[in-house]
Amino acid sequence: MTTEATPRAAADATPHRAWKSLQNVRIVKEEAPVRERPAPAPPPARMAAAPYQAYKPRPFTRAEREQVTVLFGGLHWRVERVIQGALENLGYNARVLPTATTADLMKGREVADIGQCCPTSFTTGNLANFLGGEAARLGAEEVNQRYVYVTAGSCGACRFGQYHQSYELALRNTGLSSFRMFLLGQEGLDQGAAPGGGLELNLPFTLGAVWAIVLTDVVQDLEYQIRPYEKNPGETDRVARESVELLYEAFRRRPLRGGDKLGSVVWHLSTGYFVDAMREVRRRFDAIELDRLRVKPVVKITGEFYLQTVEGDPNHNIHRWLETEGAEVYPAGITVWLDYLMRLGVQDLEDRAGLRRGARTKALALRSVQRLLRWTHDRMRRALGGAPRAMPEQNELRRLAAPWFNSRLNGGEGDMLVGKALWAHQNKKAHMICELSPYSCMPNTMSVGAMAGVLGKHPDLLYAPIEIKGDAEVHALSRCQMILTEAKKRAQREFDAVLVQTGHTPDSLRAAAARHPELACATVPIPRYGVAGGAANFALHVAALDKAAARSAA
Ligand code: SF4
Repeated sequence: MTTEATPRAAADATPHRAWKSLQNVRIVKEEAPVRERPAPAPPPARMAAAPYQAYKPRPFTRAEREQVTVLFGGLHWRVERVIQGALENLGYNARVLPTATTADLMKGREVADIGQCCPTSFTTGNLANFLGGEAARLGAEEVNQRYVYVTAGSCGACRFGQYHQSYELALRNTGLSSFRMFLLGQEGLDQGAAPGGGLELNLPFTLGAVWAIVLTDVVQDLEYQIRPYEKNPGETDRVARESVELLYEAFRRRPLRGGDKLGSVVWHLSTGYFVDAMREVRRRFDAIELDRLRVKPVVKITGEFYLQTVEGDPNHNIHRWLETEGAEVYPAGITVWLDYLMRLGVQDLEDRAGLRRGARTKALALRSVQRLLRWTHDRMRRALGGAPRAMPEQNELRRLAAPWFNSRLNGGEGDMLVGKALWAHQNKKAHMICELSPYSCMPNTMSVGAMAGVLGKHPDLLYAPIEIKGDAEVHALSRCQMILTEAKKRAQREFDAVLVQTGHTPDSLRAAAARHPELACATVPIPRYGVAGGAANFALHVAALDKAAARSAA
């Protein structure tokens, strides 16, 4: 508001007149400027403000392939590195996302559904944090142009079928809704090209990934059998890193023979190319010096796929933690999961035999693929000297789990968790089972429930289910430690019984082992003698060799 003096008021000089003149002052009201109402902020994407529209990425064209980097991750470092080599071999620029951290879990909960299972939160936050960092460095538009993300997915009872929706929500909530993400389904081997042809999900692509999984599984198994017994700390890690780099190079230079159809399958199955690479890996592991008479409990890792596979924050770094606590870890192979998926496919087709045309033939074909996978796994084990462990038989796992878990319930790992726990226990593959159960995972909750029944029938099975939710690490690990203490006692009792049985002492066993120089080789397979521990089996083997040598000398 302002005042405006009339000409008369201005002329008045005396106070009285001035006062009088004030009465003539005209009040002029200034009109307040009309303020535009700010447009309402767009609602967070998790609220339904508009009809749902399925995410449809912009095409990734063939012409863009040289400029665009394909991002992927969510496995362990060995297989990720070798898959990177397989992708580069096909002309892609590939980059592995860093291993997820607790900060990624928090981010995943912030930008996507907070109630989702913790592996989804870890991987969603991992992608969001990586892209966010790159966007801050390069700008969002450049990130949209420079990267695409490839993720596995499926349909089914658990969150695995919705990972890509979670990523999509996270991308919208981080201002990267134009970012391109492609789903690699598990429904078929030859999936054609993603829109635009930049990503060809053909047989050389799939076979490269599968062979990378098989080879690195076998290397990982050997690495975990050797590290707890190495005489020079750090040697196994160094050799494992060198070996993975060697395999990365082998896959990067893979000859692309047989075209992109059946010929490619035949070449991968028949070539000696990968066997030669594995023999070179064996040569490096051979040189590691071991003390095989260290008594250690063997801990079989089971659980949800992501948590049992990854090595880092998402599972409290459980593999390394167990080793530092004095255990030998029996890791979970990814090939076992591929085998399981095929078993599900076979049993599904068998259920429909006589009802759906061609079901029997398809079941037969899929069973043959399953056998070829096992054959390839065994071939690579042999290339490493035979020490890496064979895969469990899927039908055996199903039979063992059947009284407690229906084999047609196929979310997550289905009946495999119960089957693997019983298989490892009854066949003396491990002293203890450590099951990694994600927070908010429906299939895993069912398995843990079923295990209550299993333990009622098998009270001597040492079972440590650990709920993983990103926090309460000390709580989770101390729970595991309690069971591990009992497993250590069991391993020691088992070894002591072997000493009594063989009449040896640790020193006499060392002396006897020195008489068999082939045992100094780290990749020599030690037969199993019905006991679980590495030291106990080694002692029985040395005693058997000594006995045989004495017999032949007599
Ligand atoms: S198995 Fe469980 S943790 Fe894994 S994706 Fe499915 S719901 Fe999530």
